[in-house]
Amino acid sequence: MVKIFIDPGHGGSDFGATGYGLREKDLTLSISKRLVNILLNEYDDVQVKLSRTGNQTVSLNERTNAANAWNADFLLSIHINASGGSGFESYIYIGSFPSRSATNQKRNIIHDEVIKTTGFIDRGKKEADFHMVRESHMQSILTENGFIDNAHDANLLRQSSFLDKIARGHANGLEKALKLKRKSAEQVSVASSPSDGSSSNREMGDQRYQVNKAVAGYYTAADAKTGENKKSTVKKGDYYVYKRYDGMINVTKQKGVPGSWINPNNNVTTALNTFRIRVTADELWYYNKPDWNAREGIAKKGEVFTVVDTLTVNGSKMYKLKSGKYITANPQYIEKL
Ligand SMILES: [Zn+2]
Repeated sequence: MVKIFIDPGHGGSDFGATGYGLREKDLTLSISKRLVNILLNEYDDVQVKLSRTGNQTVSLNERTNAANAWNADFLLSIHINASGGSGFESYIYIGSFPSRSATNQKRNIIHDEVIKTTGFIDRGKKEADFHMVRESHMQSILTENGFIDNAHDANLLRQSSFLDKIARGHANGLEKALKLKRKSAEQVSVASSPSDGSSSNREMGDQRYQVNKAVAGYYTAADAKTGENKKSTVKKGDYYVYKRYDGMINVTKQKGVPGSWINPNNNVTTALNTFRIRVTADELWYYNKPDWNAREGIAKKGEVFTVVDTLTVNGSKMYKLKSGKYITANPQYIEKL
């Protein structure tokens, strides 16, 4: 099993670089999700974790802490460049460290593959004192994929098909660098063989798929892809693969019987330490920003929330909730679940 930690640069209140109506934080997330999709769909024995799966603010320390705690084998931080230039460059840590030459070798492979699929101008294989490559305990690289404020690059970066090329280049590079095992062609295509009792029956039915958290289930692969017409919730657990199509997977508890289509992108657990709390006070204020004066409404006793971040506001702890609201972290009024 190879554990790959993917870090979409910036996010939340940190937009990263901007230009031509584009924001770095959106592009890095979009590329990262495409990459995760490729890795989980096309390779065996790969685990992937993202430093963020949405538009969250995640500090650099939280990112490397998460990768270190998870014990990743490899960390890839994805960024978009700005300020005077065009093309692609990649980084390893500038200082000395034990796995420097192995890291550099992997970086070189990934770098060359991205150049190949994107046709980016090659700005070179570089070294820098970036937090992500300095503080991560595993081999790690950072890529800068085009210049957001360069007209030519921005025009490419606004095209979905070009973001696919960037993701594909990274995937090809990771495959070679980490010696990832491709699923066989029949595993990634639709199961089309007739069930005539011959050996062809084995191909899909025996394949297993791990659902890591409750995800939405759909009637069709197309719905799963667009996220429309949700029909059910597929619970965490071990499933058989009934079919794969267009990156989507039909998972089932009963071998050979169609189940629900799911989007494997939804099955990625975030590395953030989220946990749940329950309100124990009869009534409790919640806030629309991290400010004790920004009261917005009242949560009632017994209500449960998911916490995504803990902040200190005027000396008192506040939880940021998944909904984007804030609530006190004072254990007199809430309990951790
Ligand atoms: Zn950046």
